[in-house]
Amino acid sequence: MDEKLQHAYDEVLRRNPGESEFHQAVLEVLDTLGPVVAKHPEYADAAIIERICEPERQIIFRVPWVDDQGQTRINRGFRVEFNSALGPYKGGLRFHPSVYLGIVKFLGFEQIFKNALTGLPIGGGKGGSDFDPKGRSDAEIMRFCQSFMTELYRHIGEYTDVPAGDIGVGGREIGYLFGQYKRITNRYESGVLTGKGLGWGGSRVRTEATGYGTVFFVDEILRSRGDDLEGKKVAVSGSGNVAIYAIEKLQQLGAVVVACSDSGGYVVDEAGIDLALLKDVKEARRQRISHYADERSGATFVDDGSVWSVPCEIALPCATQNELDDTDAGALIRNGVQVVAEGANMPCTPEAVRAFADAGVAFAPGKAANAGGVATSALEMQQNASRDSWGFEHTEQRLAEIMRNIHRSCLTAADEYGQPGNYVAGANIVGFTQVADAMLALGVI
Ligand code: NDP
Repeated sequence: MDEKLQHAYDEVLRRNPGESEFHQAVLEVLDTLGPVVAKHPEYADAAIIERICEPERQIIFRVPWVDDQGQTRINRGFRVEFNSALGPYKGGLRFHPSVYLGIVKFLGFEQIFKNALTGLPIGGGKGGSDFDPKGRSDAEIMRFCQSFMTELYRHIGEYTDVPAGDIGVGGREIGYLFGQYKRITNRYESGVLTGKGLGWGGSRVRTEATGYGTVFFVDEILRSRGDDLEGKKVAVSGSGNVAIYAIEKLQQLGAVVVACSDSGGYVVDEAGIDLALLKDVKEARRQRISHYADERSGATFVDDGSVWSVPCEIALPCATQNELDDTDAGALIRNGVQVVAEGANMPCTPEAVRAFADAGVAFAPGKAANAGGVATSALEMQQNASRDSWGFEHTEQRLAEIMRNIHRSCLTAADEYGQPGNYVAGANIVGFTQVADAMLALGVI
């Protein structure tokens, strides 16, 4: 690594001990920026790298709430407002027991570059809590969300910081959070949260956007190689928001999705996933994926091993960070995978990414491939600001166009910096230079 980049990375390690996911996300970006700092010494002169790695603000707070048995529970809440050079902080909230500052910082750091890639005026941030929503009643979820927002509200706003959903935070949670914000502030400020319901300020296609956008990106990769999705065999991990709508768009474009998963195991369904049943099990009934196999003849449930052992031509990791390692990558490569696109954030380990590159597999990093979610959140903000509501088709076209632009700009930058076809380098370079140029213009702040 370039000496100045290495120095910045050493500082990140020193200042953020024990935050391995954050270290990993920073290293992945800095590793690709050598040619950029060589061409643009002004970035290093203004300490842009060091500044971009240090969040502008980090908020940690207590979230007390009372469960259905009357017992008082305490969780920890986070909001990391990482970079606002391009616009208000924007990024989701994650409710999962694994959440700690290192996870929130890795996600916030990724979000800076992803948001820049969309070409829309949004900065990067992320938040969440170590609260585990699994098995909790609606009333418990509501009380938790209300307590969480009772602290968070003072830090957010349509021109300041605009949270959305992520793992464990969907339409139900955004509803309770928005309700509490409205109650505390006495303001119907639609632009303060995205992912809202369609009846109260939400955007069409926001629910589908991350999954659809990932598939649009895969479609672009295939088209650039004279191929398409028709008849392609696909394995998807996860069965949450991103996975379900990736599966929906894959099927619309003629692909056959043969596997998906949750944290309890995976299902194989060679006839193609029955999407209506999957939505019923996961969205309506909030059950485990094993119930899908119980109710679908020909499908099998596997509770040990990896979904990546299922032979496929396209793999879409859509669950969580570091879920696909070098062993999984080896299995996928042996089985002839052609394209891997990250619907989730950083689901592939660095070793897996290297294995795909060595084997000539097209690899799309999350900050490019899953940017459709936040892009559509920015479209939701546009609709809120103009008190407008766009139709499904129009919004989906905007999303497809944004994904096409991201694909094109990644390839162009990769070419320009001598790494043709390298989406990882392309995405990092485009995202970084946009934020760095804005930071230069805004002075030392
Ligand atoms: P959901 O909570 O809707 O779904 C998450 C899915 O991943 C579930 O099937 C869940 O299984 C599985 N999962 C979560 N944690 C683990 C784990 N530790 N091991 C195995 N499986 C796990 O979240 P989303 O679909 O919204 O998010 C999925 C990924 O996509 C995340 O990385 C998120 O950051 C990223 N993303 C999401 C965006 C969005 O708009 N929602 C935008 C951009 C990126 P189980 O239910 O068993 O826990």
